[in-house]
Amino acid sequence: MSNITETRQGADYDAIVVGAGIAGLYQLYRLREMGLKVLALDAASAVGGTWYWNRYPGARVDSQSYVYQYWFSDELLEEWDWSERFPSQPETERYLNYVADKFDLRKDIQFNTTVTSAHWDAERSRWLIETDQGDAFTATYFASCAGMLSAPVIPFTDHETFKGQIAHTARWPREGIDLRGKRVGVIGTGATGIQVIQTIAAQVGELKVFQRTPQYAVPMRNEAYDDAARNAWRAQYPRLRESVQHTFVGFDFDLMTESYLDLSPQERLAALEKLWADGSLSFWVGGFAELLDNETVNAEISEFTRAKIRARIKDPVLAEKLVPKSFGFGTARVPLESGYYDVYNRDNVELVDVSETPIAGFTENGLLVGEQEYPLDVVILATGFDAGTGALSRMDIHGRDGRSLTELWSKDIRSTLGLQVHGFPNLFTVAGPLAPSTAFCNMATCLQQQVDWVTDCIAYLREQGRNSIEPSSEKEAWWVQHHDETANETLLMTTNSWYTGANIEGKPRRLLSYIGGVGKYREFCDEAKTSHYEGYIVA
Ligand code: NAP
Repeated sequence: MSNITETRQGADYDAIVVGAGIAGLYQLYRLREMGLKVLALDAASAVGGTWYWNRYPGARVDSQSYVYQYWFSDELLEEWDWSERFPSQPETERYLNYVADKFDLRKDIQFNTTVTSAHWDAERSRWLIETDQGDAFTATYFASCAGMLSAPVIPFTDHETFKGQIAHTARWPREGIDLRGKRVGVIGTGATGIQVIQTIAAQVGELKVFQRTPQYAVPMRNEAYDDAARNAWRAQYPRLRESVQHTFVGFDFDLMTESYLDLSPQERLAALEKLWADGSLSFWVGGFAELLDNETVNAEISEFTRAKIRARIKDPVLAEKLVPKSFGFGTARVPLESGYYDVYNRDNVELVDVSETPIAGFTENGLLVGEQEYPLDVVILATGFDAGTGALSRMDIHGRDGRSLTELWSKDIRSTLGLQVHGFPNLFTVAGPLAPSTAFCNMATCLQQQVDWVTDCIAYLREQGRNSIEPSSEKEAWWVQHHDETANETLLMTTNSWYTGANIEGKPRRLLSYIGGVGKYREFCDEAKTSHYEGYIVA
């Protein structure tokens, strides 16, 4: 690796891509196909992005495999066999490695390399990009595909006091952690914590779950695919490739057009049971649209979900602790679960409610909650991410006149279509804030659409013999306003979660993902392109 770093040092590129996950690999492929000299950089030692880092026990995709894949190559679609409806992390990682090999992408990726700063040189219309390996690259275009949920958060300062083993789920060691028979503590019960807890409960000696906020999780209906099932899905790929572009969240299902309020109580119940039985995120974002903007409907569906949770827990007092009451169903990311609630009926599992008495910190032997010490051998931090802005803010990016993206976003999180930021020419932010990515999108759909947009935009600049593009401040103000108006029509702004940046102290509050729908978002993006980037500064 070090040889590659040395030979590349100081090299000039047409484009530098950050990240070698789903978006980064595709961005590298597309720009290279256009004939550009491209280099992708990744802090990891191999491809995979999210699926490289999040190798914790039980990590699994919440999107169906038949819509969580690349569409650009018929050959790839023909060759790759998914083994189940919701694939595990190892399978998804294998898939991305297969793609990297098939399209010979590795030769243009420098691994083990973190971008430490990027400065726009206005005179030369180029980015100067420095890395922790001592590289100083220049590039005309700087495309960050660094991920929406890739900057892990450790909300403690004293965790090094702990003499046992500690791991954040998004930095899980490649060699794994032997949890068998150990006293294990898990902090966090979001989508990640739930997957970890339900997977390790039967392996560990004792499991303490430190829960601050319970979640509404929907049972995942996973199933193995045999050749017949795979062929049936494969026959649908042409339809799926098109349909996912236009639905509310980039899945094969869409919000229902039927109004919940028009149904009788029996019809409502029957409709909810039917959605529930699908065992996917369709109960949330493929169900009744009023769930997200009507308090009465939301209250009823929340109650339906609470009853489902209560029915799973033998001890009614414990059940009440696991039932969310402080926010409405679907106003934060809904996790899928497989046996999660049942874990709490086990003798070796204890729920430690830290909602009123918070975790005071670490001791040498474990965790302290109030006066009580919980002795542990291993602590698993499923404590989430600095979402949307974190990966970019940690890169120290400076645009026109030296302005700092980190500083800008520490006061006001702004972007245009989540793809560019005023004052930062030729910076492209795939999976950046204020696009539907992650929170309201099947990531594979949105990432490919965004990469395609970036690629078309760069192609346009080159065809027109132009050097740079950035949104005007008016264009940006328009998008931010539309984004906020759309968000404010929903119930989402009232809930504290990473969706609104509430998990990070001092982070400006704004819904990080656009909630107007993937189809509608695509129309805005297409319109920017067909209008030849009206409202953008093209120099
Ligand atoms: P998260 O949803 O932000 O959850 C973090 C958890 O840590 C929360 O339960 C939070 O409690 C808790 N926490 C943080 N600081 C704490 C403290 N000081 N004391 C006690 N508890 C603390 O993060 P995540 O679970 O990693 O999920 C992030 C996102 O990644 C998901 O929403 C999803 O979009 C994505 N994801 C997807 C999949 C999938 O597709 N299968 C799997 C995993 C993750 P509070 O809620 O009280 O703050």
